[in-house]
Amino acid sequence: MTSPLADLAAQTKDVLDQVSALSSLDELREREPFLTGKRSPFASLQKTLGALAPEDRAGAGAELQEARRTVEVALEQRRVELARAAREEVLAADRLDLGDVVVGDVPATLTVGHPSLVALTQRSLEDVFVAMGFRVAEGPEVESDWYNFEALNIPPAHPARGLWDTFYVDLGEPETVLLRTHTSPTQIHLMEEAVATGSLPIHSVMPGRCYRRDTPDARHLYSFHQIEGLVVDRGITFADLAGVIETFTRAYFGPDIASRLRPGYFPFTEPSAEFEVTCTICRGSGCRTCSHTGWIELGGCGMLDPAVLDAVGIDGEVWSGFAFGFGIDRCAQMRHEVSDMRALIENDARFLEQFS
Ligand SMILES: [Zn+2]
Repeated sequence: MTSPLADLAAQTKDVLDQVSALSSLDELREREPFLTGKRSPFASLQKTLGALAPEDRAGAGAELQEARRTVEVALEQRRVELARAAREEVLAADRLDLGDVVVGDVPATLTVGHPSLVALTQRSLEDVFVAMGFRVAEGPEVESDWYNFEALNIPPAHPARGLWDTFYVDLGEPETVLLRTHTSPTQIHLMEEAVATGSLPIHSVMPGRCYRRDTPDARHLYSFHQIEGLVVDRGITFADLAGVIETFTRAYFGPDIASRLRPGYFPFTEPSAEFEVTCTICRGSGCRTCSHTGWIELGGCGMLDPAVLDAVGIDGEVWSGFAFGFGIDRCAQMRHEVSDMRALIENDARFLEQFS
């Protein structure tokens, strides 16, 4: 009689091939009874062993058990492989892009961002002023009426307030609180601090965000950035102010860009001037941007009004100084020939990625 296990090797190989071909845990669970369980060839063969002579039965049983065991081990290995693949698939699907942002290993589909044009401009302006001996100081964006206006020689009825309408904050306090309209309040904080700590003189620049109730257009934004400079020292004259403006202009814009001062008016400086720089578009020869004058207004400056020094308790007989300020956004606009300032806040990647 032919042994019922005559084809065992071939059948085992067939089942092992089926195990290798399993492609998912679901399929494995579905197929398991047919591979090692009750509906497998091994179960069928098991039933035939009863027909064998008792002396052959034990040997055949052991052989069958061995074959089944081989398949069970292979099935278990396949189960582990499929489980690992399934877990990796889930992880890949769940992976947050942040996980891919690894220095030196940036996938082609991702780009690492960079500071905005305004932030980059602020940094390079700070670098120029630090190289000239200034320190960088910061102040709060939410200010009291006193710091934003009164201490700067702009009392409540002063017409200059109309130029600086802003957003008011209702904190339920008797004091008027507002979003600062310029970085000048930081000058007051610095002078107060210097008086309190006896640390005059002051040579500082104050960059920061300011607010005005402007409707956004090509040249105005409701939120913008300024940088101001403040010098309080002994024997400071208007010549020092003009020299600082000129040195800054050539250092930042280039040696072929010059500055000039024109009489102007600001409540907190006396005398005051508007400062202009050579048009960066036409380099002074005249174009539409500069109304064919060759010059573009950048900011304002002037000698500190003694009333401002008085307000913070600095003796105007001993100390004098000057202040200047201009828009960082305007600076970026001029240097990079950005025709519409709204581009600076619109977060259009096509615009932003030009300045990496
Ligand atoms: Zn021009």
